Amino acid sequence: LISRFSKIDDLDTLKKSLAEIDQTLKRGCGSIKEGIEGCIGDTPLIKIKSLSEATGCEILAKAEFLNGAGNSPKDRVALSIIETAEERGLLVPHSGDTVYEGTVGSTGISLAAICRARGYKAHICMPNDMAIEKSDLLLKLGAEVERVRPAPIVDQNQFVNLARERAKEHTENPDKLGRGLFADQFETEANWRAHFTGTGPEIYEQTGGFVDAFVSGAGTGGTISGVALFLKSKLPDLKVVLADPPGSGLFNKVKYGVMFDPKEREGTRRRHQVDTIVEGIGINRVTHNFEVGRELVDDAIRVADDQAIGMARWLVENDGIFVGSSSAVNCVAATKLARQLGPGHRIVTLLCDSGARHLSKFWANKSVGGAENDVSLDKLLDS
Ligand code: PMP
Repeated sequence: LISRFSKIDDLDTLKKSLAEIDQTLKRGCGSIKEGIEGCIGDTPLIKIKSLSEATGCEILAKAEFLNGAGNSPKDRVALSIIETAEERGLLVPHSGDTVYEGTVGSTGISLAAICRARGYKAHICMPNDMAIEKSDLLLKLGAEVERVRPAPIVDQNQFVNLARERAKEHTENPDKLGRGLFADQFETEANWRAHFTGTGPEIYEQTGGFVDAFVSGAGTGGTISGVALFLKSKLPDLKVVLADPPGSGLFNKVKYGVMFDPKEREGTRRRHQVDTIVEGIGINRVTHNFEVGRELVDDAIRVADDQAIGMARWLVENDGIFVGSSSAVNCVAATKLARQLGPGHRIVTLLCDSGARHLSKFWANKSVGGAENDVSLDKLLDS
Protein backbone atom coordinates (compact mmCIF):
# COMPACT_ATOMS: atom_id res chain seq x y z
CA LEU A 1 0.00 0.00 0.00
CA ILE A 2 2.79 2.41 0.97
CA SER A 3 4.42 2.08 -2.44
CA ARG A 4 1.22 3.52 -3.94
CA PHE A 5 1.75 6.81 -2.00
CA SER A 6 3.31 8.36 -5.10
CA LYS A 7 3.04 11.92 -3.83
CA ILE A 8 5.38 11.27 -0.91
CA ASP A 9 8.99 12.04 -1.88
CA ASP A 10 10.80 10.25 0.86
CA LEU A 11 9.10 6.85 1.01
CA ASP A 12 12.02 5.14 2.74
CA THR A 13 11.85 7.47 5.74
CA LEU A 14 8.11 6.92 5.97
CA LYS A 15 8.58 3.14 5.90
CA LYS A 16 11.24 3.40 8.59
CA SER A 17 9.06 5.42 10.91
CA LEU A 18 6.12 3.07 10.34
CA ALA A 19 8.37 0.17 11.30
CA GLU A 20 9.38 2.03 14.47
CA ILE A 21 5.76 2.78 15.35
CA ASP A 22 4.94 -0.93 14.84
CA GLN A 23 7.63 -1.84 17.38
CA THR A 24 6.12 0.53 19.93
CA LEU A 25 2.62 -0.80 19.32
CA LYS A 26 3.86 -4.37 19.82
CA ARG A 27 5.26 -3.36 23.19
CA GLY A 28 1.75 -2.25 24.19
CA CYS A 29 2.72 1.32 25.10
CA GLY A 30 -0.67 2.72 24.17
CA SER A 31 -2.91 3.12 27.19
CA ILE A 32 -6.60 3.62 27.77
CA LYS A 33 -7.60 5.58 30.85
CA GLU A 34 -10.33 4.15 33.06
CA GLY A 35 -12.74 7.11 33.05
CA ILE A 36 -11.89 10.63 34.16
CA GLU A 37 -10.36 9.27 37.38
CA GLY A 38 -7.77 7.48 35.23
CA CYS A 39 -6.51 10.86 34.00
CA ILE A 40 -5.40 11.90 37.50
CA GLY A 41 -1.70 11.79 38.43
CA ASP A 42 1.42 11.01 36.39
CA THR A 43 1.74 14.68 35.47
CA PRO A 44 4.80 15.88 33.51
CA LEU A 45 7.79 17.53 35.17
CA ILE A 46 8.69 20.54 33.03
CA LYS A 47 12.07 22.27 33.00
CA ILE A 48 11.33 25.98 32.98
CA LYS A 49 14.03 26.96 30.54
CA SER A 50 13.98 30.72 31.01
CA LEU A 51 14.30 30.57 34.81
CA SER A 52 16.90 27.80 34.61
CA GLU A 53 19.04 29.81 32.19
CA ALA A 54 18.68 32.99 34.23
CA THR A 55 19.73 31.35 37.52
CA GLY A 56 22.13 28.58 36.47
CA CYS A 57 19.97 26.16 38.47
CA GLU A 58 17.58 23.61 37.04
CA ILE A 59 14.09 24.85 37.91
CA LEU A 60 11.59 22.05 37.35
CA ALA A 61 7.83 22.38 37.72
CA LYS A 62 5.32 19.60 38.18
CA ALA A 63 2.49 20.43 35.76
CA GLU A 64 -0.40 19.71 38.09
CA PHE A 65 -2.76 21.76 35.92
CA LEU A 66 -2.59 18.79 33.53
CA ASN A 67 -4.44 16.51 35.92
CA GLY A 68 -7.40 15.55 33.76
CA ALA A 69 -10.54 15.86 35.93
CA GLY A 70 -10.52 19.33 37.55
CA ASN A 71 -7.10 20.40 36.22
CA SER A 72 -5.25 21.01 39.48
CA PRO A 73 -3.41 19.04 42.22
CA LYS A 74 -6.78 18.86 43.99
CA ASP A 75 -7.82 16.07 41.61
CA ARG A 76 -5.53 13.77 43.57
CA VAL A 77 -7.01 14.94 46.87
CA ALA A 78 -10.66 14.78 45.77
CA LEU A 79 -10.22 11.25 44.44
CA SER A 80 -8.43 10.17 47.63
CA ILE A 81 -11.22 11.64 49.83
CA ILE A 82 -13.98 9.99 47.80
CA GLU A 83 -12.27 6.61 47.56
CA THR A 84 -11.52 6.60 51.31
CA ALA A 85 -15.17 7.40 52.06
CA GLU A 86 -16.35 4.64 49.70
CA GLU A 87 -14.03 2.12 51.38
CA ARG A 88 -15.54 3.06 54.74
CA GLY A 89 -19.10 2.82 53.42
CA LEU A 90 -19.71 6.54 53.94
CA LEU A 91 -20.50 6.99 50.24
CA VAL A 92 -22.08 4.49 47.84
CA PRO A 93 -21.42 5.07 44.11
CA HIS A 94 -24.43 6.08 41.98
CA SER A 95 -26.61 6.46 45.06
CA GLY A 96 -27.11 10.22 44.72
CA ASP A 97 -25.29 10.83 48.05
CA THR A 98 -24.15 14.42 48.55
CA VAL A 99 -20.54 15.56 49.04
CA TYR A 100 -20.07 18.92 50.82
CA GLU A 101 -16.91 20.99 50.81
CA GLY A 102 -15.66 24.40 51.81
CA THR A 103 -13.15 25.47 49.17
CA VAL A 104 -11.73 28.51 47.42
CA GLY A 105 -12.42 26.68 44.17
CA SER A 106 -9.94 24.06 43.04
CA THR A 107 -10.99 21.27 45.41
CA GLY A 108 -14.63 22.01 44.64
CA ILE A 109 -14.01 21.75 40.90
CA SER A 110 -12.20 18.42 41.29
CA LEU A 111 -14.89 17.07 43.61
CA ALA A 112 -17.68 18.23 41.29
CA ALA A 113 -16.14 16.44 38.29
CA ILE A 114 -15.49 13.20 40.18
CA CYS A 115 -18.94 13.35 41.82
CA ARG A 116 -20.50 13.50 38.35
CA ALA A 117 -18.49 10.46 37.26
CA ARG A 118 -19.49 8.45 40.36
CA GLY A 119 -23.14 9.46 40.68
CA TYR A 120 -22.96 11.85 43.65
CA LYS A 121 -24.23 15.38 44.12
CA ALA A 122 -21.67 18.08 44.98
CA HIS A 123 -22.50 21.05 47.21
CA ILE A 124 -19.74 23.65 47.36
CA CYS A 125 -19.43 26.55 49.83
CA MET A 126 -16.89 29.20 48.77
CA PRO A 127 -15.97 32.82 49.57
CA ASN A 128 -17.62 35.30 47.19
CA ASP A 129 -14.38 37.17 46.43
CA MET A 130 -12.81 34.34 44.42
CA ALA A 131 -12.52 34.65 40.62
CA ILE A 132 -15.96 34.23 39.06
CA GLU A 133 -14.60 31.68 36.55
CA LYS A 134 -14.40 29.13 39.35
CA SER A 135 -18.04 29.35 40.48
CA ASP A 136 -19.19 29.45 36.83
CA LEU A 137 -17.29 26.25 36.15
CA LEU A 138 -18.71 24.60 39.29
CA LEU A 139 -22.23 25.38 38.13
CA LYS A 140 -21.52 23.96 34.67
CA LEU A 141 -20.25 20.80 36.35
CA GLY A 142 -23.63 20.51 38.05
CA ALA A 143 -22.56 21.44 41.58
CA GLU A 144 -24.74 23.44 43.90
CA VAL A 145 -22.75 26.55 44.85
CA GLU A 146 -23.12 28.77 47.92
CA ARG A 147 -20.98 31.89 47.70
CA VAL A 148 -20.58 33.48 51.11
CA ARG A 149 -19.06 36.65 52.54
CA PRO A 150 -15.40 36.10 53.55
CA ALA A 151 -15.34 35.59 57.33
CA PRO A 152 -12.90 34.45 60.04
CA ILE A 153 -12.86 30.74 60.96
CA VAL A 154 -14.68 31.46 64.27
CA ASP A 155 -17.74 32.68 62.29
CA GLN A 156 -20.32 29.92 61.72
CA ASN A 157 -20.98 31.25 58.23
CA GLN A 158 -17.32 30.94 57.22
CA PHE A 159 -17.28 28.76 54.11
CA VAL A 160 -15.70 25.67 55.71
CA ASN A 161 -17.98 25.83 58.78
CA LEU A 162 -21.01 26.22 56.55
CA ALA A 163 -20.12 23.13 54.49
CA ARG A 164 -19.66 21.10 57.70
CA GLU A 165 -23.06 22.29 58.98
CA ARG A 166 -24.78 21.44 55.68
CA ALA A 167 -23.40 17.88 55.85
CA LYS A 168 -24.55 17.57 59.46
CA GLU A 169 -28.13 18.25 58.37
CA HIS A 170 -28.02 14.83 56.63
CA THR A 171 -27.06 13.04 59.86
CA GLU A 172 -29.99 14.70 61.59
CA ASN A 173 -32.46 13.94 58.82
CA PRO A 174 -31.21 10.90 56.87
CA ASP A 175 -34.65 9.73 55.67
CA LYS A 176 -35.35 12.98 53.87
CA LEU A 177 -31.84 13.98 52.75
CA GLY A 178 -29.98 10.64 52.30
CA ARG A 179 -26.27 10.33 53.03
CA GLY A 180 -24.04 13.41 53.17
CA LEU A 181 -20.25 13.60 53.48
CA PHE A 182 -18.16 16.56 54.62
CA ALA A 183 -14.99 16.20 52.53
CA ASP A 184 -12.94 18.23 55.06
CA GLN A 185 -9.82 18.85 52.95
CA PHE A 186 -8.12 20.98 55.65
CA GLU A 187 -8.16 18.26 58.32
CA THR A 188 -8.50 14.90 56.57
CA GLU A 189 -5.61 12.43 56.32
CA ALA A 190 -6.74 11.56 52.79
CA ASN A 191 -5.37 14.94 51.62
CA TRP A 192 -1.65 14.75 52.47
CA ARG A 193 -1.66 11.00 51.81
CA ALA A 194 -2.62 11.65 48.16
CA HIS A 195 0.61 13.65 47.78
CA PHE A 196 2.63 11.20 49.87
CA THR A 197 1.62 8.29 47.61
CA GLY A 198 1.33 10.23 44.32
CA THR A 199 3.02 13.60 43.84
CA GLY A 200 6.07 12.82 46.01
CA PRO A 201 6.98 9.44 44.47
CA GLU A 202 6.39 10.83 40.96
CA ILE A 203 8.86 13.68 41.62
CA TYR A 204 11.38 11.19 43.00
CA GLU A 205 11.04 8.94 39.98
CA GLN A 206 11.09 11.77 37.42
CA THR A 207 14.27 13.27 38.87
CA GLY A 208 15.96 9.94 39.59
CA GLY A 209 16.14 11.13 43.20
CA PHE A 210 18.38 14.08 42.27
CA VAL A 211 16.64 17.06 43.87
CA ASP A 212 18.14 19.73 46.12
CA ALA A 213 14.99 21.60 47.09
CA PHE A 214 11.21 21.48 46.91
CA VAL A 215 9.22 24.74 46.92
CA SER A 216 5.45 24.98 47.46
CA GLY A 217 2.75 27.28 48.74
CA ALA A 218 0.24 25.96 51.28
CA GLY A 219 -3.51 26.32 51.50
CA THR A 220 -4.56 23.22 53.38
CA GLY A 221 -0.88 22.24 53.60
CA GLY A 222 -1.58 18.80 52.09
CA THR A 223 0.80 19.25 49.17
CA ILE A 224 3.85 20.52 51.05
CA SER A 225 3.40 18.01 53.91
CA GLY A 226 2.71 14.96 51.74
CA VAL A 227 5.56 15.67 49.31
CA ALA A 228 8.00 16.61 52.11
CA LEU A 229 7.18 13.47 54.13
CA PHE A 230 7.85 11.24 51.12
CA LEU A 231 10.86 13.01 49.64
CA LYS A 232 12.63 13.54 52.98
CA SER A 233 12.19 9.84 53.80
CA LYS A 234 14.36 9.19 50.73
CA LEU A 235 16.47 12.36 50.68
CA PRO A 236 17.13 13.60 54.25
CA ASP A 237 19.23 16.55 52.98
CA LEU A 238 16.46 17.92 50.73
CA LYS A 239 15.51 21.51 51.55
CA VAL A 240 11.75 22.14 51.74
CA VAL A 241 10.72 25.78 51.36
CA LEU A 242 7.28 27.35 51.81
CA ALA A 243 6.22 30.05 49.30
CA ASP A 244 3.83 32.38 51.09
CA PRO A 245 1.70 35.35 49.92
CA PRO A 246 1.06 38.55 51.92
CA GLY A 247 -1.21 38.29 54.96
CA SER A 248 -0.58 34.60 55.58
CA GLY A 249 0.65 33.55 59.03
CA LEU A 250 2.45 30.45 57.76
CA PHE A 251 5.62 32.38 56.86
CA ASN A 252 5.98 33.43 60.52
CA LYS A 253 5.06 29.95 61.75
CA VAL A 254 7.95 28.48 59.75
CA LYS A 255 10.41 31.27 60.60
CA TYR A 256 9.56 31.88 64.28
CA GLY A 257 7.24 29.03 65.37
CA VAL A 258 4.31 31.43 65.87
CA MET A 259 1.73 32.86 63.46
CA PHE A 260 2.87 36.49 63.98
CA ASP A 261 6.16 38.31 63.56
CA PRO A 262 7.68 38.55 67.08
CA LYS A 263 9.48 41.76 66.03
CA GLU A 264 6.10 43.50 65.60
CA ARG A 265 4.76 45.55 68.48
CA GLU A 266 2.20 43.99 70.84
CA GLY A 267 -1.26 44.84 69.55
CA THR A 268 -0.26 44.71 65.89
CA ARG A 269 0.42 41.00 66.22
CA ARG A 270 -3.06 39.87 65.36
CA ARG A 271 -3.46 39.39 61.70
CA HIS A 272 -4.54 42.54 59.93
CA GLN A 273 -6.70 41.70 56.94
CA VAL A 274 -4.42 41.91 53.92
CA ASP A 275 -5.99 41.97 50.50
CA THR A 276 -3.99 39.70 48.27
CA ILE A 277 -4.96 38.77 44.75
CA VAL A 278 -3.40 35.33 45.17
CA GLU A 279 -5.95 32.53 45.48
CA GLY A 280 -5.59 29.07 47.02
CA ILE A 281 -2.50 29.56 49.20
CA GLY A 282 -1.80 31.42 52.44
CA ILE A 283 -3.81 30.89 55.63
CA ASN A 284 -3.91 32.11 59.22
CA ARG A 285 -4.43 28.91 61.12
CA VAL A 286 -2.41 25.72 61.42
CA THR A 287 -4.43 22.94 59.82
CA HIS A 288 -3.78 19.25 60.45
CA ASN A 289 -2.50 18.91 56.89
CA PHE A 290 0.14 21.59 57.45
CA GLU A 291 1.00 20.43 60.97
CA VAL A 292 1.69 16.87 59.86
CA GLY A 293 4.71 17.96 57.83
CA ARG A 294 5.55 21.28 59.51
CA GLU A 295 8.81 20.17 61.09
CA LEU A 296 10.08 19.17 57.66
CA VAL A 297 9.66 22.70 56.25
CA ASP A 298 13.11 24.28 56.51
CA ASP A 299 12.44 27.83 55.40
CA ALA A 300 9.83 30.24 54.02
CA ILE A 301 9.94 32.91 51.30
CA ARG A 302 7.45 35.77 51.20
CA VAL A 303 6.20 36.68 47.69
CA ALA A 304 4.50 40.04 47.02
CA ASP A 305 1.51 40.30 44.67
CA ASP A 306 3.49 42.44 42.19
CA GLN A 307 6.15 39.74 41.98
CA ALA A 308 3.52 37.07 41.29
CA ILE A 309 1.89 39.20 38.58
CA GLY A 310 5.28 39.89 37.00
CA MET A 311 6.26 36.21 37.08
CA ALA A 312 3.00 35.09 35.45
CA ARG A 313 3.75 37.44 32.54
CA TRP A 314 7.39 36.38 32.40
CA LEU A 315 6.35 32.72 32.07
CA VAL A 316 4.02 33.49 29.17
CA GLU A 317 6.49 35.72 27.37
CA ASN A 318 9.52 33.46 27.73
CA ASP A 319 8.15 29.94 28.00
CA GLY A 320 4.57 30.02 26.69
CA ILE A 321 3.36 28.81 30.08
CA PHE A 322 0.02 30.35 31.16
CA VAL A 323 -0.70 29.82 34.85
CA GLY A 324 -2.66 31.19 37.80
CA SER A 325 -1.58 33.06 40.91
CA SER A 326 -0.35 30.26 43.21
CA SER A 327 1.84 28.83 40.43
CA ALA A 328 3.37 32.26 39.90
CA VAL A 329 4.09 32.59 43.64
CA ASN A 330 5.79 29.18 43.56
CA CYS A 331 7.98 30.23 40.62
CA VAL A 332 9.03 33.51 42.26
CA ALA A 333 10.04 31.62 45.42
CA ALA A 334 11.86 28.93 43.41
CA THR A 335 13.81 31.64 41.53
CA LYS A 336 14.69 33.50 44.74
CA LEU A 337 15.85 30.22 46.28
CA ALA A 338 17.98 29.48 43.19
CA ARG A 339 19.71 32.84 43.69
CA GLN A 340 20.29 32.02 47.38
CA LEU A 341 21.67 28.53 46.68
CA GLY A 342 23.76 29.56 43.68
CA PRO A 343 24.18 27.83 40.29
CA GLY A 344 24.22 24.06 39.89
CA HIS A 345 21.24 23.14 42.07
CA ARG A 346 18.02 21.43 41.09
CA ILE A 347 14.78 22.87 42.48
CA VAL A 348 11.30 21.36 42.02
CA THR A 349 8.10 23.36 42.35
CA LEU A 350 4.46 23.10 41.20
CA LEU A 351 2.31 24.68 38.51
CA CYS A 352 -1.10 24.33 40.16
CA ASP A 353 -3.68 25.67 37.74
CA SER A 354 -4.18 27.47 34.45
CA GLY A 355 -4.37 31.23 34.00
CA ALA A 356 -7.76 30.66 32.34
CA ARG A 357 -9.20 30.25 35.84
CA HIS A 358 -7.88 33.69 36.87
CA LEU A 359 -8.68 35.95 33.90
CA SER A 360 -11.12 38.23 35.73
CA LYS A 361 -8.95 38.79 38.83
CA PHE A 362 -5.23 37.93 38.87
CA TRP A 363 -4.75 38.30 35.11
CA ALA A 364 -6.74 41.55 35.03
CA ASN A 365 -3.81 43.28 36.79
CA LYS A 366 -1.05 45.19 35.03
CA SER A 367 2.50 43.86 35.33
CA VAL A 368 5.20 45.45 37.49
CA GLY A 369 5.94 48.97 36.24
CA GLY A 370 3.06 48.65 33.80
CA ALA A 371 5.36 47.35 31.05
CA GLU A 372 3.14 44.62 29.63
CA ASN A 373 5.65 43.10 27.27
CA ASP A 374 8.96 43.74 28.92
CA VAL A 375 9.29 42.08 32.29
CA SER A 376 12.79 42.03 33.72
CA LEU A 377 13.50 39.18 36.14
CA ASP A 378 15.64 41.37 38.39
CA LYS A 379 12.92 44.00 38.51
CA LEU A 380 10.19 41.58 39.40
CA LEU A 381 12.24 39.78 42.06
CA ASP A 382 13.20 43.05 43.70
CA SER A 383 9.76 44.72 43.51
N1 PMP B 1 -2.89 26.24 44.35
C1 PMP B 1 -4.20 26.32 44.19
C2 PMP B 1 -4.75 26.93 42.93
C3 PMP B 1 -5.07 25.87 45.19
O1 PMP B 1 -6.40 26.00 45.05
C4 PMP B 1 -4.52 25.30 46.36
C5 PMP B 1 -5.38 24.77 47.47
N2 PMP B 1 -6.42 25.52 47.91
C6 PMP B 1 -3.14 25.24 46.51
C7 PMP B 1 -2.36 25.70 45.47
C8 PMP B 1 -2.49 24.74 47.78
O2 PMP B 1 -2.47 23.38 47.99
P1 PMP B 1 -2.63 22.73 49.42
O3 PMP B 1 -4.07 22.88 49.83
O4 PMP B 1 -2.26 21.30 49.23
O5 PMP B 1 -1.76 23.40 50.39
